[in-house]
Amino acid sequence: MTDLLKNPIFQDETKARDWLEACVWAGVRVCPHCGNADQKKITQLHGEAHRAGLYQCNEPECREQFTVTVGTVFERSKIPLTKWLAALFLMTASKKGISAHQMHRMLGISYKSAWFLMHRLREAMRTGGLEPMGGEGKVIEADEAYFGKADTLHVSPQRKGRAYTKRGKFKNNRPIVSLVERGGSVRSFHVAVADQVAVTKIVRDNVARESRLHTDESKLYYRVVSHVAAHESVNHSGREYVRGDVTTNTVESYFSLFKRGMRGTYQHCSEKHLHRYLAEFDFRYNNRIALGVADTERAENLAKGIVGKRLTYRRPHSKEIPF
Ligand SMILES: [Zn+2]
Repeated sequence: MTDLLKNPIFQDETKARDWLEACVWAGVRVCPHCGNADQKKITQLHGEAHRAGLYQCNEPECREQFTVTVGTVFERSKIPLTKWLAALFLMTASKKGISAHQMHRMLGISYKSAWFLMHRLREAMRTGGLEPMGGEGKVIEADEAYFGKADTLHVSPQRKGRAYTKRGKFKNNRPIVSLVERGGSVRSFHVAVADQVAVTKIVRDNVARESRLHTDESKLYYRVVSHVAAHESVNHSGREYVRGDVTTNTVESYFSLFKRGMRGTYQHCSEKHLHRYLAEFDFRYNNRIALGVADTERAENLAKGIVGKRLTYRRPHSKEIPF
């Protein structure tokens, strides 16, 4: 890590910008205002009068100016790009995450800035509108976990919406549902209530019909069978964890990584931010070394994710930021 941070992109603002432009644009600059990607209609503005890295879009209808950070989670930030990139590399390289306190100390920025910057990077880690997971001959493991305390109790009368555990006890915890493709990627969802309706919708929207689905004996999955090629389960209450190739061990090890990371690094996490922490752990899992993704490539993948996610997110009040 110390060697990694010797990279000049963490000291030199121009080099940081060049690195970011290479990741985001890959040689093809795009005007974020109108989508113009005709390089002949884009000119770089030089000289004292202009900010570094400023471009002019010459599309007659547009004529706007932009930099690589316009329309991204970095937009309108006063934090230098060198620090953004250091934060980006640190977050992608630490397996269990890194606390805002540590980020504040390592980068020499205020705790509040560190906290805010990290949430923006988590937003960049978020993926959406993806292709279905799995496919013919592929196995998807599904399971639910409960983490922390819910800020409010979600009770929907239509759905008799209380979060029950597998043993039927009421639990005031925040339910998470995760799908993991064996040998592949994960998608996690923070749901208001883990019930059949929610779980069935998640499977239907995210899993290719040709896949086999493996779960435990939970009643939550009774209705998924019409959405997959096969639904097989192991009976955990009967101490059955593996039967043939049927198991939920992969999704459970994902949950244990998530919980260890959350308890060790992020002791405080309010419910409204839980989906962002899930995005962070999902991102690292989906860009892990076992899938052939090295540290530098993981950071580049995150840099690509900053686009189109400009937060409509106001700066939080101090009292909202946990210490
Ligand atoms: Zn334009």
